[in-house]
Amino acid sequence: MPLLRDIFINLSENQLLNSAAQKYGLRLGAQSVVAGTNIPEVIKSMKELNAQGISCTVDNLGEFVYEKSEATKAKENILAVIEAIHENDVDAHISLKPSQLGLDIDYDFCYENLVEIVAKAAEYNMHVNFDMEDYARLQPSFDLLETISQEYNNVGTVIQAYFFNAKENIEKFKDYRLRIVKGAYKEPADVAYQDKHDIDLNFIELIEYHLLNGKFTSIATHDHNVINHVKQFAKEHDIPTDKFEFQMLYGFRKEMQLELAREGYNFCTYVPFGSDWYGYFMRRLAERPQNLNLVTKQVFTK
Ligand code: FAD
Repeated sequence: MPLLRDIFINLSENQLLNSAAQKYGLRLGAQSVVAGTNIPEVIKSMKELNAQGISCTVDNLGEFVYEKSEATKAKENILAVIEAIHENDVDAHISLKPSQLGLDIDYDFCYENLVEIVAKAAEYNMHVNFDMEDYARLQPSFDLLETISQEYNNVGTVIQAYFFNAKENIEKFKDYRLRIVKGAYKEPADVAYQDKHDIDLNFIELIEYHLLNGKFTSIATHDHNVINHVKQFAKEHDIPTDKFEFQMLYGFRKEMQLELAREGYNFCTYVPFGSDWYGYFMRRLAERPQNLNLVTKQVFTK
């Protein structure tokens, strides 16, 4: 359903709707896929997941940050999340978006914010993942990662399989802890595969490459075919289970998340929280219009 996908991606980029949504609590079914709007709520959700053998990566949601004051606030929130994870002894690490920390305002300012976060996380031996956004932010995000990793080794990033240059980048960053995904944004045909089949093939190729050659691999997908393929591939190539983990988003395929953890695989749930939930939620609807069920259920059970 490419048309519906485009509609939701366009909605996710609508700044007016984004700021309107922030004024209200979680709506439209977003509460099924966003673990609260504040730190105590997200800590509680993560502890529940930990109790079931699942680790977490937490994302303090935020986009469209064009003011330094907003980026500074985002940085302070993330520092507070790091403290709360440590104080509450939660099994979790940080996922963040460089644009939330000022990438679209000023590269050096963003760098300073990121270093402060990475340094604080390093004190607690906590990993920080730089989530990947759209193509325009790809190279600057890699540049930030490379510079910061000269001093800190608790950082990693994401490789998006829809990009033609994904193979080149995974080879370049093979010594990093990497999350591999299909890719969530709408990208033009001169930089990214458009056909689902091509993306899926590249996704598998990248995962296999990093499992065989790279540092720790996070395979982030809800696609059972890919998950089954990875399980088989790991067995055939004697790849120990401590070299990789599966990741899924909070609220999606909950039974499968638990099943994978019960089978003895490392499993990590991506846990988003915060008042800036709108863009994240619209991208989830774009990926899988069946997620609209969340919305209709919410509307009709009120
Ligand atoms: P899809 O291609 O959406 O689905 C494949 C098949 O899996 C479907 O046909 C269906 O049979 C099954 N399936 C999928 N979802 C469900 C469901 N909910 N219930 C039942 N069956 C289902 N993207 C980025 O661009 N940057 C990032 O930094 C990033 N980080 C991510 C982190 C995590 C933990 C995850 C899980 C995703 C992340 N993404 C990121 C999003 C990713 O790029 C994809 O857009 C998203 O995961 C959808 O692709 P998929 O691999 O899950 O499977």
